[in-house]
Amino acid sequence: MLEKTLIIIKPSGVQREIVGEVISRFERKGLRLAGLKMVNLTDKILNEHYAHLADKPFFPRIKQSMTVSPVVIICLEGVEAVSVVRAMTGVTNGRNAAAGTVRGDFSMSNQENIIHASDSVENGKIEVKRFFADTEIFDYQKVNLSFINNLEEINF
Ligand code: ADP
Repeated sequence: MLEKTLIIIKPSGVQREIVGEVISRFERKGLRLAGLKMVNLTDKILNEHYAHLADKPFFPRIKQSMTVSPVVIICLEGVEAVSVVRAMTGVTNGRNAAAGTVRGDFSMSNQENIIHASDSVENGKIEVKRFFADTEIFDYQKVNLSFINNLEEINF
């Protein structure tokens, strides 16, 4: 089943100059770029996005770290894209993340962990709507689609 998921390349990824590398990993996997833009995150959107962490002592610190530079926001689409992208992202703490994942390969930190990735299909939908206007999401078809999935997988 085709799903959409949201990635944020955090200031740690932008400042470490690995935006292209991160996007390239997802492109090479076979995920379709459905939306892509650079923005400065606001306090308001971060309060919404990280509402589940509002009572944590590090909440002000993560909000500050997400606003020190622009971020790159990406919507990816693919069969089971949410779980595929989470697996490619790795666990929260970069020091514990498996080698081969984005966090495992590029992060030494719990906080400065390069990317955000939606953690459920439900949250993927909410987060794509939170960060993209409908007109910023592009539903073109990849010409190499039949070399990435068979039709049964896509239409399941
Ligand atoms: P994930 O990003 O892996 O889904 P969470 O939703 O729990 O993890 O946390 C959101 C973000 O908050 C993390 O990606 C990380 O940047 C930051 N964070 C989480 N836990 C900590 C912590 N203990 N100390 C500092 N920052 C943290």
